[in-house]
Amino acid sequence: METASLSAIALEERYGAYNYHPLPVVLTRGRGVHVWDVEGKKYYDFLSAYSAVNQGHCHPKIIRALCEQAERLTLTSRAFHSDMLGVFEQYICEYFGYQRVLPMNTGAEAVETAIKLARKWGYKKKGIPENQAKLIFCENNFHGRTTTIISASTDEAARKHFGPYMPGLVVIPYNDLTALQEALTDPTVAGFIVEPIQGEAGVLVPAEGYLKQAQQLCRAANVLFIADEIQTGLGRTGRLLCCDYEEVRPDILILGKALGGGVMPVSAVLSDDEVMLTLRPGEHGSTFGGNPLACKVAMAALAVVREENLAENAFRMGELFRNALRAIKSPALREIRGKGLLNAITLADNNVAWNFCLQLKENGLLAKPTHGDKVRFAPPLIINEVQLEECIDIIREALDTLH
Ligand code: PLP
Repeated sequence: METASLSAIALEERYGAYNYHPLPVVLTRGRGVHVWDVEGKKYYDFLSAYSAVNQGHCHPKIIRALCEQAERLTLTSRAFHSDMLGVFEQYICEYFGYQRVLPMNTGAEAVETAIKLARKWGYKKKGIPENQAKLIFCENNFHGRTTTIISASTDEAARKHFGPYMPGLVVIPYNDLTALQEALTDPTVAGFIVEPIQGEAGVLVPAEGYLKQAQQLCRAANVLFIADEIQTGLGRTGRLLCCDYEEVRPDILILGKALGGGVMPVSAVLSDDEVMLTLRPGEHGSTFGGNPLACKVAMAALAVVREENLAENAFRMGELFRNALRAIKSPALREIRGKGLLNAITLADNNVAWNFCLQLKENGLLAKPTHGDKVRFAPPLIINEVQLEECIDIIREALDTLH
């Protein structure tokens, strides 16, 4: 590796916490589906910052919105009104068809917000006795890193030595309606929180009809159906929301990542009056949540998703991608799964994913290994057919080196 990369990595190793294990590549520039390292080498970005860069790197429309607003007003806190907040709130509510929104910054904060909303609704509307509300989560979930959220995690690395854990969280198997039905018999359950596809777990796609039936079970039990679409939303899986595939409208919808257009953290929780109006002033908030800069950027980010038909493109490119991978027939490749442009492969050998990703990097494509044998493929949704075919060639060549 060359000096510029080595010294950048050495600095991080000397001064940073060791809470990540990145691939040895040091990026300095991004545009569209591409990023460049400090030595000038160009790569396809097949992670898209965990789906936060759905619109592509440095999208001109989003950067313009950022710069215009940055020169005008960036932050007021919620102690005062701003002339951007209401405009954004109307925009996003109409965009997704909800009555109200609560803007936050990161995904984890939005999930925390949804948890608090569900509990508050449970006490005020459902009549659950104080401090007894429960929330149902799924095994192998990923909803963020706060102490409450990791209390519902089944991943040892996320949990171990970070207890004691938050009570009132029930964990059931994913994609298991019988387990959900059983858990819903408890009258103190306020909400069921689910990823429409489990992204961090390795892109686990549930059976068709799971979301629809889960929602119906929740409705019958007077329990809120809460969809964490932080990773699956905004066109990633080939529809605006992954829940759209089953015509499911969550009682609480959680968005993040690409809502900030790959530019800044913006998250949001959408719901209707019955849930959202249970919150009163002083009960929840965030200094930066709903700041004018974030409002302007998020509207541009949403406009790009719609104007550039990113969901439709993700659907088409996703079909093309999976079909092309299936045609490779490599013994190194065990499984291909995904929806739209949220895809993953499982390799036949354990613990080769890291070296496979190093090989991809050599060939000009950046992807992220997980769980030793899985690699996620999630390029920006603006990728076109010619680019995708080039990427498939790169993946094919890297697979050839595995056997
Ligand atoms: N929920 C899901 C489904 C996610 O994929 C993520 C991040 O990967 C989060 C929540 C947490 O978001 P953040 O990292 O912005 O806190």
